[in-house]
Amino acid sequence: AKVKGRNRTAQFEEGRSAQALRWLDLQQALALALQRDEFVLHYQPITTITGGIAAGVEALVRWNRPGHGLIPPDEFISVAESSGLIEPLGAWVLGEALRQLSAWKLTDRVPPGFYVSVNLSPVQLMDRSLVSNITRTIADHGLVGAELTLEMTETALIDDEEIMLATVDALASAGISLSIDDFGTGYSSLARLRHLPAKQLKVDRSFVAGMTTDSRDAALVAAVIGLAHEFGMTCVAEGVETAEQLDELTRLGCDYAQGYLLGRPMKSADLEKVWDQAVAV
Ligand code: C2E
Ligand code: CA
Ligand code: CA
Ligand code: CA
Repeated sequence: AKVKGRNRTAQFEEGRSAQALRWLDLQQALALALQRDEFVLHYQPITTITGGIAAGVEALVRWNRPGHGLIPPDEFISVAESSGLIEPLGAWVLGEALRQLSAWKLTDRVPPGFYVSVNLSPVQLMDRSLVSNITRTIADHGLVGAELTLEMTETALIDDEEIMLATVDALASAGISLSIDDFGTGYSSLARLRHLPAKQLKVDRSFVAGMTTDSRDAALVAAVIGLAHEFGMTCVAEGVETAEQLDELTRLGCDYAQGYLLGRPMKSADLEKVWDQAVAV
């Protein structure tokens, strides 16, 4: 049994170093990918709950890795976060999303008030030059703060309370809208919500998924919508996949919806086709 135990430890160590190697590989590949411009953004419509008009889009990053296909963000964001690459990657995402928005505006493809929503990593929130970098990028593209929403998770909001609150306040002062992503799943503190200049709560997809079959999920969704409104915020339901969910969300007074039912994340050219067809009808 002892021998077996040692073998297992050895296997475990081997497993760990293999993992460490993969991590290093991935980190190096990511650094190169940034230089080689291998990232792309897909855009998913966020629509008003009744009208079906896109009020904005969420930008979601993918890695177009040669020989591997399109890699989803869950497979590389955490490596980028723990290797210092999230700052340049985040800056690229922001610049690209704002460049795309100004291009859409030039071709009159988007309605007034249309915004692009960009995900911020907790690591980025600790970056003291974040606010000046963002405001400069907005100005560079001839846009104003109100055309940008930044999505952050509750986990993103706890690291260092003071820096985080100062950053978030400065962003809000620049007219940028803040959205709390995946609301209800992080280390939530309802008390903190009072201090945050957030304009929007996003109901996590897991609650939406269960809301038409599980009364507890339905109660949670109703509570988040109510809370958002009590605080003068709007509410976005994410992961809306069925008409039944959309009906129920409408009944509950949710403001916006996002999900496969309304549109998958698409590359800009595909989204433009959808919009151009809608106009032609
Ligand atoms: P998220 O911010 O919660 O984004 C929503 C995710 O749900 C996206 O996955 C989207 O494709 C997916 N989704 C949308 N509608 C539906 C639906 O109806 N059903 C289902 N099952 N899924 C739906 P994606 O694009 O793979 O992104 C995963 C996560 O990666 C995002 O979760 C976000 O946390 C992170 N992420 C994406 N882009 C960025 C980025 O530019 N920067 C940072 N820091 N994180 C990003
Ligand atoms: Ca998000
Ligand atoms: Ca989310
Ligand atoms: Ca998420």
